[in-house]
Amino acid sequence: DMQKQYGLVIDLERCIGCQACVVACKMENNLEQESWIRVEMRNGQPLDTAAGEFPNPDLQYVPVTCMHCQEPPCVDACPSGAIFKRIDGVVVMVPSLCTGCEACLSACPYGVIHWDEAKGIASKCHLCAHRIDQGLEPFCVICCEGQALQFGDLADPESEVSQLVKKRAGYPLKPEEQTRPTTRYLPSLEKRPV
Ligand code: SF4
Repeated sequence: DMQKQYGLVIDLERCIGCQACVVACKMENNLEQESWIRVEMRNGQPLDTAAGEFPNPDLQYVPVTCMHCQEPPCVDACPSGAIFKRIDGVVVMVPSLCTGCEACLSACPYGVIHWDEAKGIASKCHLCAHRIDQGLEPFCVICCEGQALQFGDLADPESEVSQLVKKRAGYPLKPEEQTRPTTRYLPSLEKRPV
């Protein structure tokens, strides 16, 4: 069996910034505070900052969550072994093993690890591992009406997500960080990449 690398492919042509994924994540994972996925604007601007001018506004929403890196620095940074990469490529964090040292927060170049002040522990997206294990897709993927979020095995060149990446020249965010992020972004046809 070939090693799997599950991950997301995010189609920037299709994301309209509706935040359904943000709500879906909170619901599915019983998150009281922040969602494990956020939607920001291109170039990291605050939400709803429009570049360009009428009649050519430039609204480009970018969903961001754990990239399920192939060389995840958060795993190395965690001294208590609370973060690990599963055999299917999903990077998971075990809450009961987290001692609250916060080392992972600064190790992740994507700022996707959340800090729960009340509980004193870190948490992050696990691609709904509990759903994956039942053959289901992550809940954000299910709830994205525009189908901007696609889930699949990026290690399999024949998978739908791999085909999309190939066809649409999918690219990773911050490849210079050398974490080999799995998540790929499909550029909007009309607009420049992030
Ligand atoms: Fe770890 Fe951040 Fe990479 Fe996710 S994106 S695997 S939290 S370093």
